[in-house]
Amino acid sequence: MEKMEKMGRACLIFLVSMIFLFVGFGHSKETSKPLILQEMTWTDVQEYLSKSDMVIIPIGSTEQHGPHLPLGTDSFIATDIAKMISVRTGVMVAPVVLAGYSVYHSGFPGTLSLKPETMEQVLFETAEMLIKHGFRRIMFLNGHGGNTIVQSKVIHRINHNTAAIALALGDYSPIDEEPPKDWFDQHAGVQETSVMLHLEPGLVQMERAEKPKIRFSPQRGNYLMLGRKNPELMGIFWSLLATPQETEKGGASHQISSNGVWSFSDPNEATKEIGEQYISKRVESFAKFIETWKQVPPEKK
Ligand SMILES: [Zn+2]
Repeated sequence: MEKMEKMGRACLIFLVSMIFLFVGFGHSKETSKPLILQEMTWTDVQEYLSKSDMVIIPIGSTEQHGPHLPLGTDSFIATDIAKMISVRTGVMVAPVVLAGYSVYHSGFPGTLSLKPETMEQVLFETAEMLIKHGFRRIMFLNGHGGNTIVQSKVIHRINHNTAAIALALGDYSPIDEEPPKDWFDQHAGVQETSVMLHLEPGLVQMERAEKPKIRFSPQRGNYLMLGRKNPELMGIFWSLLATPQETEKGGASHQISSNGVWSFSDPNEATKEIGEQYISKRVESFAKFIETWKQVPPEKK
């Protein structure tokens, strides 16, 4: 009798722990640590692939970000967001491409740049290896506007030449935001400085932050003036920006800005609260998108 009771209790404990285990797995998608490919062993990756075929590839740049932000700003931002998403969703993060297409920033020392075709090849071959191992859903997370065109080309190439699906985080995960007060706060300005104050405060040197002198070439000034009344011309204004000095379009960073900052505002207005709000909206929206996409189970290989 006593033996029977003991067995019954053991069964009950087993059942209760299984329920806890099941409920736990079902609900706690959040892990405390991000899953970073370089920090994992091949056996970890093998185990991961038995449950998921998703991977995030952050893309960054090494380019001047004014006198107060580090050259790796875009890489830090892309990687930090990817890590936060990984903590939220359990999706693995693959290595960031440290140099992007940034030749128009090279008037300031330290900027590195890959030719678009080189960068495309590096990203494509990285994806090819991941696909060989069984990854089928590849999400790029880009931290630098100059990389957008390369990112689109790689995504198209993956979708049309391999078994995998590739996309850019952000394309299918809309972010509800007010339009910025300063439309030219594009680079190392209030917004980006705020983001860095939130993510990497130890790398921000606020005592060096200063409002840039912005000068547009007469041609660009004309597009800007006409564009106020004819918004269809603003596309030309934007396509003349961020062009290499050699094209003689006057769109290189050092031709536009006295210190590399692209903003009409003073980066000293930056606060970590602005940065936190900007980042949390993105992480929230990307994580939500991923959780929805997870409802489509991986294809049987
Ligand atoms: Zn940047």
